[in-house]
Amino acid sequence: MFTKILIANRGEIACRVIKTARRMGIATVAVYSDADRDALHVEMADEAVHIGPAAAAEGYLVAEKIIDACKKTGAQAVHPGYGFLSERASFCEALEKEGIVFIGPKPKAINAMGDKIESKKFASAANVSTVPGYLGVIENAEHAEKIAAEIGYPVMIKASAGGGGKGMRIAWNQAEVRDGFDRARSEAKSSFGDDRVFVEKYVVDPRHIEIQVLADAHGNVVYLGERECSIQRRNQKVAEEAPSPFLDEATRAAMGEQSVALARAVDYQSAGTVEFIVDRDRNFYFLEMNTRLQVEHPVTELITGIDLVEQMIRVAAGEKLPFAQKDIKLNGWAVESRIYAEDPYRNFLPSIGRLTRYRPPQEGKAGNAIVRNDTGVFEGAEISMYYDPMIAKLCTWAPARAEAVEAMGEALDGFVVDGIEHNVPFLSALMKHPRWREGRLSTGFIAEEYPDGFAPVMPDESQRATLAAIALSASLIEANRRETFADRLRSATDPLRDHWCVRLGDDYIDVRLLDGLVTVPFEMEMDIAGETLNVVTDWRPGEPVWRGKVGKQPVTAQLRPILNGVRLDWQGLSVKSKVLTPRHAELDRLMPVKLPPDTSKLLLCPMPGLVVSIAVTVGQEVKAGETLAIVEAMKMENVLRAERDLVVGVINAKPGESLAVDAVIMEFA
Ligand code: ADP
Ligand code: ADP
Ligand code: MG
Repeated sequence: MFTKILIANRGEIACRVIKTARRMGIATVAVYSDADRDALHVEMADEAVHIGPAAAAEGYLVAEKIIDACKKTGAQAVHPGYGFLSERASFCEALEKEGIVFIGPKPKAINAMGDKIESKKFASAANVSTVPGYLGVIENAEHAEKIAAEIGYPVMIKASAGGGGKGMRIAWNQAEVRDGFDRARSEAKSSFGDDRVFVEKYVVDPRHIEIQVLADAHGNVVYLGERECSIQRRNQKVAEEAPSPFLDEATRAAMGEQSVALARAVDYQSAGTVEFIVDRDRNFYFLEMNTRLQVEHPVTELITGIDLVEQMIRVAAGEKLPFAQKDIKLNGWAVESRIYAEDPYRNFLPSIGRLTRYRPPQEGKAGNAIVRNDTGVFEGAEISMYYDPMIAKLCTWAPARAEAVEAMGEALDGFVVDGIEHNVPFLSALMKHPRWREGRLSTGFIAEEYPDGFAPVMPDESQRATLAAIALSASLIEANRRETFADRLRSATDPLRDHWCVRLGDDYIDVRLLDGLVTVPFEMEMDIAGETLNVVTDWRPGEPVWRGKVGKQPVTAQLRPILNGVRLDWQGLSVKSKVLTPRHAELDRLMPVKLPPDTSKLLLCPMPGLVVSIAVTVGQEVKAGETLAIVEAMKMENVLRAERDLVVGVINAKPGESLAVDAVIMEFA
């Protein structure tokens, strides 16, 4: 066995590999770029070597720097993680030349599987069922049209060197093939430095189901069941699970055996993944093989009890697999959520910055379930623009799917991330989605269920009662603590009354306290909008996470102070709340709501400037696009045009006049 290995990666996967190596008693070497000086993987490793600037192309992707770092530290082997150098055969060869072991497959297998066209040919020869299509490079649009007509529409034009969900485009008819072909080729060239594209059948509404294989250097190959990764956004995985709710034993065995056959055909060793798409009738088609550890490997580890990184290291050291196919048992259910620094409310735009708060849920046992969080960050760490915006991979395991999903919802609701935007609200809403809960999935799930993007979800009646209970309990606990300070004025929201009104968004919810104690733990019977609920929590002032029970339901939610109230986040809901006395609520309802001004009937001066000319007169009908006025600012004339058809009502400005920004130049009728 090795005594020291180097991890040629960063982030959560570097940390993940270090954990196993450490458990095996192997010393670890991290590498880091300028942007990662203070990163978690550097801190976790026994040694760390600086490999250059932040840009991946000048650091993490430079094979020579990794090899130098091995020589400098005496690392005998390299684990590449995923991404970066993990699928570069030339990197393995370079390591081999230096007598350093690559913890992964041999270059031959990487070469055979790294290219989509070549791997399809290989798979087809190994009797693996592949997506119908042409097994070769397509040279021009005419050829593509001919092939597409033979396959039947719709078809997919794919870059042979593509990866990470990029470099593919759907064509529903001949015209789209003609238009799409050249663009697909030039995109392939610019993204992957390789313009070879091919055409295959586009399988409508498929599921993405993949088989984990594991092979050693002695000819032993096993498959460790499947993972379903149908929850995708733009062909990229967002949430995964194992096993798949769709597969029966026969299909699982057939897919497993074909995957093993493919692995044997390329003399595969180490861990690898054979990806398939599966149609409604459970016909399955090979997509590609990933010759590396997969992002979503933890769900397989959770249902098989096998540490894939450990097996990769053992296989690389020449050991035999310690189990045969008959020893592999799938136990229970596991779900993974990829937590990304992206804004779900703004079309999942990447978000960068400092994690001002990072409090993942407790790992380990949670009732019947197990929580695992693979992460590469810590509170105060920075999510930079240079790398994958992944914050963590949160996994839950339970004996059955419904319990694992429930545990995931709970874990997400307790996952506190502040300082940047993140997709936890989206994932949390997903866990409540009826179609996801029923397991009726397809790769089109997100596009179909969230056609206009993800919008804040509105609470239903029972959720409103729960939110009101959380807001009121927190407010009472806080007021109770204030009581313990001497010499202070009593405020109207002190807990001496039993009738309250909780404002949630624009709703007012009447709550009466029936019986209980405002202590820690808090326990109170409440009448919430006519329903009697017992509310229990051990929440303390200042904690971002509220845990407790409302009625019979265990609840984990988050509280953040805002002006005159708190924001509550739960199950993908985000609601502003205020706790009021009934009298305050009465007055609160009368408070005028400050609406953003309606400027649709005004022409405002867009910048401080001088009116050069007014092009219209009062009462004039103007068509959209016609000039209304010209304003000079910074020595530039700005033409202000009508945004729609309108009639001029009042004109407030004259040529020669100086105006401030937002001054009203004219009003429309
Ligand atoms: P998985 O199936 O493990 O989710 P993905 O295809 O989503 O794999 O990619 C995993 C990681 O590898 C991601 O960080 C992705 O950005 C990176 N990756 C995959 N293919 C490529 C590629 N061709 N070039 C660069 N990065 C890639
Ligand atoms: P990558 O290397 O980027 O991971 P894949 O070939 O694995 O590329 O495809 C990624 C995703 O794109 C799949 O999970 C699936 O959702 C979709 N996809 C790819 N090929 C097809 C196809 N022929 N028909 C339908 N969907 C496809
Ligand atoms: Mg893929």
